Amino acid sequence: MPTFRAPDGTTVPADRIAFRFGDRALTYAELAAVTGPLAAGLGGERRVAIWATPTLETAVAVVAALEAGVPAVPVNPRSGEAELAHIVADSEPSLVLAAPGETLPGALSVLARADVDVTAGGPAHHAPADLPDTAPALVVYTSGTTGPPKGAVLPRGAITSTLDALADAWAWTGDDVLVHGLPLFHVHGLILGVLGPLRRGGSLRHLGRFSAEGVARELAGGGTMLFGVPTMYHRLAEALDDDPALAKALTGARLLVSGSAALPVHDHERIAAATGRRVVERYGMTETLMNTSVRADGEARAGTVGVPLPGVEVRLVDEAGDPVGARDGETIGEIQVRGPNLFTEYLNRPDATAEAFAGDWFRTGDMAVLEHDGYVRIVGRKATDLIKSGGYKIGAGEIENALLEYAGVREAAVTGEPDEDLGERIVAWIVPADPQNPPAERELADHVARRLAPHKRPRVVRLLAELPRNDMGKIMKRSLRG
Ligand code: ATP
Ligand code: MG
Repeated sequence: MPTFRAPDGTTVPADRIAFRFGDRALTYAELAAVTGPLAAGLGGERRVAIWATPTLETAVAVVAALEAGVPAVPVNPRSGEAELAHIVADSEPSLVLAAPGETLPGALSVLARADVDVTAGGPAHHAPADLPDTAPALVVYTSGTTGPPKGAVLPRGAITSTLDALADAWAWTGDDVLVHGLPLFHVHGLILGVLGPLRRGGSLRHLGRFSAEGVARELAGGGTMLFGVPTMYHRLAEALDDDPALAKALTGARLLVSGSAALPVHDHERIAAATGRRVVERYGMTETLMNTSVRADGEARAGTVGVPLPGVEVRLVDEAGDPVGARDGETIGEIQVRGPNLFTEYLNRPDATAEAFAGDWFRTGDMAVLEHDGYVRIVGRKATDLIKSGGYKIGAGEIENALLEYAGVREAAVTGEPDEDLGERIVAWIVPADPQNPPAERELADHVARRLAPHKRPRVVRLLAELPRNDMGKIMKRSLRG
C-alpha cells in the first residue's frame, strides 16, 4: 500500500479518507490526483475567489490554491449582493472557482470562471509551492458582527502554527475523524475544520448541513471529534432530552469543541449532565486564528476558554494599555495577543491595521478576566458587551448566563442603553420558550440580582420572537442597540 506524508511529517495510508461530504469522499491518493492538476492550472493567478459551498469541491479548491501558492478568498455563497460586491471589489480576484452547476451572481460571474471537477485521476504534474511562512495563503473576511467584514490576510505560517498548536492542545492525530457542519468561508470551518485534519493526515466528515441526527450518526459511525458553534451545541442540548442515541454518541466522542462565540454555561451544563462530557472551549479570531483553549487533558470549566496555546502570548491590559496581572477572576482587561498565529494586515485598510496593533501586540477588542490558574474567562466585546452602569463595569456575558438558567427563557442577550442616572442601564432581550407564557419580568430581574449582584439587575426586559444572528450564529448586538 503506497503511503503519503502529511504536512506534519506523519505517514498516511493512501486509501485513508481525507474528506467526506455526504456520500462523496476522496482518499488521500485521490485528493492528490485531483489537487495536483488543479494547482498546476492555477499557477500565475493573482488571487482566486472560491464560492465556498459546504462541498467537497470547496475543500479541493482551497487545498489546490494552497498547493499552487495562490492566495485564496473563500466567499460566503449566501452573501447579499452588496456584501458580495464589497468583497469582490476589495479582494480583486483574477479567477473564481465554483463547483460545476453553481449559478454565480452577477458580481462574480463577470470574472473568468473555472469549474472544479472532482474526478480523481491523472498523476500530479506540478511541484507543490515551496513558499516562506510570510507568504499570503488566504484572505478571510471577518464575520461582520461589529461592522462591515474586513479581509484578514493570513500568511502560511499563521495557519501551520495554529494547527500545530491545536494538535498539541487537543492531542489531535491522524487517527482522528473530525465531524462538523460548519460553513467553509470562515476560520472555524475552513482552517480548523478542513485544513486541520489534512495537516495531521486524519479525516473530515462534513455534515453538509448541521443536524443533531447527523452528529449522532457520524459520531456513532467512527467520528472522534466534533467542532461546533454555540448555537449548534444549544440544539444538541435541546435534542438530548429525548434522544438516547445522541447522548451515547456524544459520550463516546474523544473531544467536543466549541468556538466562535461564548458557549452559554447553561448549555455546557446540560450537555455534561446528559453525556458525562464537558465541551472544550477555544477562543480565536479571523485575525489571530487560535489564541487559547482548554486542553484535552485539562479541566473544561464552564464559561472559560482555557489557557494560551503553545507559542501564543496572551495578556490583559487596562484602558491606558498597561498590563493587568491580577489573577483574581475579577479585574477586567482587554485581551492582547502576540505570536506566529497573527494575520499580516487587513486588505486595503492600512488605517484599521495600524489601529489594531499596539507594537507587535494585536488588540482583540475582547474583554476578559484571568482566573487563579491563568484560565481566561471572556466577559465580552469592548464595543458591545461592556456596560458602564452606576460606576461599575459589567460584562454582558454573565448576565446572559444567569438569564438562560431561568425556566422559560430560551435565548437571552444583554446590552446597555443610555440612562440619565446610571450612565447606562442594563437591558435584557429575551426569547421566551413559550411566547404565550413568557417569564415574569420582575422575577427574572430578581433572579439575576440574587444570582449575581444587585447592580447587575436588568432595568428593562424586552421580549423578542428571535435574536438577530449572523451566519455563524453570533448575536448581532449592533442591531439590537439600534
Ligand atoms: P467582526 O470582526 O467583523 O465584527 P467577528 O469579530 O465576529 O466579526 P470573527 O473573527 O469571526 O469575527 O470572530 C472573532 C470574535 O468571536 C472574537 O473577537 C470574540 O469576540 C468571539 N469569540 C470567538 N471565540 C469565542 C469564545 N470561545 N468565547 C467568546 N467569544 C468568542
Ligand atoms: Mg472581530
